[in-house]
Amino acid sequence: MQRYLVALQCLPCRTERPHAVTYLGNVFASATCTVCGATARPRTDVLIAQYVRDFEQRLVRKPGRMLTRARRDPVTFVLHYLPHGLVSKPREVLQEWEALVRLNAATSTAPPDAEPAEVRTAGR
Ligand SMILES: [Zn+2]
Repeated sequence: MQRYLVALQCLPCRTERPHAVTYLGNVFASATCTVCGATARPRTDVLIAQYVRDFEQRLVRKPGRMLTRARRDPVTFVLHYLPHGLVSKPREVLQEWEALVRLNAATSTAPPDAEPAEVRTAGR
């Protein structure tokens, strides 16, 4: 999960404000205005579909990248990259899944015909 601070146009503030933007993998997950707390995020089902697609692409790319690295520098690959790739990446993926589950639980009370991009004010 990646977090960035990005200047975006805020609808409630009617001006550009710094937003805390969250990505799950390469998929946009939410943008929260740091001034008024309004949050814009894709619908949860859309987010999950995009995340799964992104996750599949990351898995597909991985073997090729690992093989290239192994051929270029086998010792470094075995000593450093391989344990890192096997141990730390699944944890990162697990954290992303946990974030998705939390998001899903938080938005599952929303009406089924909610707007495609939900905008919520602070203090839900
Ligand atoms: Zn705002």
